Amino acid sequence: MNIFSMVVTFENLHEVRRLCHWGPIIALSVISICSTMAIFDSIIWYWPLDTTGGSINFIMLINWTVLILYNYFNAMFVGPGYIPLDWKPGNQHHTQYLQYCKVCHGYKAPRSHHCRKCNRCVMKMDHHCPWINNCCGHLNHAYFTSFLLLAPLGCSHAAIIFIMTMYTQLYDRISFGWSTVKINMSAARQFQPLIPFSVPAFAATLFALGLALGTTIAVGMLFFIQMKVIIRNKTSIESWIEEKAKDRIQHYQTGEEFIFPYDLGSCWLNFKQVFTWTGMPKGDGLEWPVHPKCHQHTLTIEQLKQKADKRVRSVQYQAVEDYNGACCPLSKGLQTFFRTPCTEEPRIPLSKGETILATRGTKWWMYGDKMLSEQQVAVGERVRGWFPRRCVEKCHYDSAASENTSEKKVN
Ligand SMILES: [Zn+2]
Ligand SMILES: [Zn+2]
Repeated sequence: MNIFSMVVTFENLHEVRRLCHWGPIIALSVISICSTMAIFDSIIWYWPLDTTGGSINFIMLINWTVLILYNYFNAMFVGPGYIPLDWKPGNQHHTQYLQYCKVCHGYKAPRSHHCRKCNRCVMKMDHHCPWINNCCGHLNHAYFTSFLLLAPLGCSHAAIIFIMTMYTQLYDRISFGWSTVKINMSAARQFQPLIPFSVPAFAATLFALGLALGTTIAVGMLFFIQMKVIIRNKTSIESWIEEKAKDRIQHYQTGEEFIFPYDLGSCWLNFKQVFTWTGMPKGDGLEWPVHPKCHQHTLTIEQLKQKADKRVRSVQYQAVEDYNGACCPLSKGLQTFFRTPCTEEPRIPLSKGETILATRGTKWWMYGDKMLSEQQVAVGERVRGWFPRRCVEKCHYDSAASENTSEKKVN
């Protein structure tokens, strides 16, 4: 009964649906293919268990798999930590320094951002990762980064096993043209495997090798990016905010000095904020230790200034062509098709005559907010995303100004 009630009240049970997404399905398939093939190749063809080296190799392979899955599932199910719904700062006076989230009906605590995929405000949000189908943020930053370190290490080990298995098994059968290279393979070839290394086994090993090498390179790069985030204590979103802060100060010549508040000044101190012996990061995800010259709301005030500035600097466009919201639309020209922005951000369908406030763009695509009716705005609706540049035309200054006076300072 106790066990049954424990299972039923298991808080994260509903979170199991996070697995039903292409990211976790692909990631878990890659992990299972690589680890299963590495174990089979080792014990059947390359390094049998009756040798000491073979046993150690086997234990190491199992260890990699367990550690990788442990960190992967923790990153996914512990999650980044969400700001409580209806959250307000302890001091009512501080609400003026914070942005309000209409979806979560609460204020956005410092360092938090609203994730449209998770549909919640996420503590110290770095990014939404499709591979764990969850955000990477405050609570799961250490698990996520450990996974990014362990996966390439495990895959490199597996890749060595795959290469050595194929090499030792094919050594006698085909000529590599390496007759001048003398490698003593006697140790590896002294036993006769029970199952011959057949064509399907070779194909599966080669396939697994491709996956292992690809994972090592791709995930290894992500590990270095995350380590940079951790030792600077600056998330990818905050780097962007800092860049815009410098831009804003330079543009308006305000003479302010912007100091990023969360960098504690030493890589080790920053590292210890995320990695602790308990596995849980320091802090409650709402208040943060800051640089002596800053305070809790240094960054949120800067965000509010940027938000106000962005509104002034956005440019009004009108749709002159319909667009169905396709990622790579066929009917909008080759360049639009091939130069589609490499991001998971949504595309927004347009109908002729609609108005959009664009905040950024490339030569072929633009990003902005569709102007909605007052009722839609009142219920917090927002349509924001990419659309092809050729589907819109810049509004004339006069018409833009008369429609929305706050937009008259168009640059
Ligand atoms: Zn929110
Ligand atoms: Zn998210």
